[in-house]
Amino acid sequence: MEKILNYFNPLARLGIKRYSTLFPLLSAVALASLLEFLSFVVFKDPNASGLAAIVLFVGLIIYFSFRDGIKGGVIATLVTISYYAYIIYTRHHQGDQLRASIQTVIGLAIIYLILALVIGWLKQTIDTLMETEMEARRLAEEGQMRLETILEQLPVGVLLVDLKHKLIQGNKQVEKVLGQKIKIPLTADDTYENVHAYQEDKPMAAKEWPLLRALKRGENIVGEEIKYLRDDNKELHLRVNAAPIRNRKKEIIAAVSTFYDVTQEKELEKRKDDFINMASHELKTPLTSMKLYLDSLFNRVNKSEDEKAIKTLNSIKNQTLRLQELVNDLLDVSRIQTGKLHFHKEEFRLDQLVIETVEMLQDTTPQAILIVKKTPIKIMADRFRIYQVITNLITNAIKYSSKNADIKIRIQRQKGAAVVSVQDFGIGIAKSQRKMIFERLYQVTDATEKTFPGLGMGLYISKEIVKRHKGKIWVEGEKGKGSIFYFSLPLIPPSRAVKKK
Ligand code: ADP
Repeated sequence: MEKILNYFNPLARLGIKRYSTLFPLLSAVALASLLEFLSFVVFKDPNASGLAAIVLFVGLIIYFSFRDGIKGGVIATLVTISYYAYIIYTRHHQGDQLRASIQTVIGLAIIYLILALVIGWLKQTIDTLMETEMEARRLAEEGQMRLETILEQLPVGVLLVDLKHKLIQGNKQVEKVLGQKIKIPLTADDTYENVHAYQEDKPMAAKEWPLLRALKRGENIVGEEIKYLRDDNKELHLRVNAAPIRNRKKEIIAAVSTFYDVTQEKELEKRKDDFINMASHELKTPLTSMKLYLDSLFNRVNKSEDEKAIKTLNSIKNQTLRLQELVNDLLDVSRIQTGKLHFHKEEFRLDQLVIETVEMLQDTTPQAILIVKKTPIKIMADRFRIYQVITNLITNAIKYSSKNADIKIRIQRQKGAAVVSVQDFGIGIAKSQRKMIFERLYQVTDATEKTFPGLGMGLYISKEIVKRHKGKIWVEGEKGKGSIFYFSLPLIPPSRAVKKK
């Protein structure tokens, strides 16, 4: 029933561009036939239809223009004018009366045509507008559905809030991670009441939450770590990102925050740290005793002059020293992690330390270690720890280059700092890896390269030592052509140097 009503109702057809030709044609012919029937059969007066013929046909033209656009209106008009002509012809008008009738019909034809064109054009314009609008709405709805599905599939929690802190969008991961429904609006006051977020063990004021910082201050936050205490007292570590969403005028209209639960990752890291700490301490004690026993054994074997035994013992000693170096590195990593790496600073000549270190390492390799620039520079630092950095860079240069390639070392003053560089002509480091190699336990794994022994601790320890001396460490060079490692340390301020004299 509704379908039939909608078929006749022009308002229900707004936005539908299906324009009928047959319906207006048949309706106009039927109306003309009806009027003829009424005039000749019912009223038996050929002129009875007079005014009705005008009113009804105007109505019909308006109706069809509105229902079927220009085409419908024009068809209805043509049938109407034909009917009027038929009336003139059948009613035997003559002379002045015929002329007047023809003039009237022409006048009416023009008015009807204008009516049909204007209303039909309006109808078609409305249809086009509504169609565009409906298409836009359909696309928007589809986009929304797509976004919702993606959000639900994401393994991270996503929160989207508008300027009034009203939740626009959120996914089920948010509630899963937080273990509760999200309270919206988020209270952005300064009190710590009911606040469960902590950063470095200090409660975070609501305004410091990444989402609200993005919303209020337009900050882009990447990978910030937050501790979150759930209502069920479960402690979570979250890694949070947040960014403002702006309109075309660059005004902030909303903000989005994504976060994921890194609690397990953190626990694993902690267990790894605990293990390194324990293992290095446990290994250190027996190793120290081993070295003492080895020394006393050495003394006895030396006296016996048993060449074979001396050679074997030498090998054991070298391996033990290597083992001790590894354990010491492990201990240093553990000290850095627990904030227990301490320094004993003194004033010394950096160039002399480098020369001594090179002399020592030169005995271990056939590669020429050349000091191509040695500016005398005094620094204030922990001599042993700086020696450790230089040794690490030179042993790496030896390890990652071929036996017949030289290694070049420069000690110079640059921009108010003492800078030491170690250049090799070995495998080099890809640009993308240059930051990462200074991270804990990081090693470049490259399918095309052979793998080198090591644990990825040396550069991490070196970076921490240099950083704690207020210096910098970095690397340059080209993959396949070699690397240049640099570290810089602050010079002794001139005022202090003068005082010393
Ligand atoms: P290790 O040498 O024990 O693996 P490091 O912390 O000293 O650990 O170095 C980390 C990584 O950096 C190495 O695994 C290696 O891939 C890369 N690397 C360090 N020095 C050089 C160098 N001179 N040339 C090329 N790659 C290097």
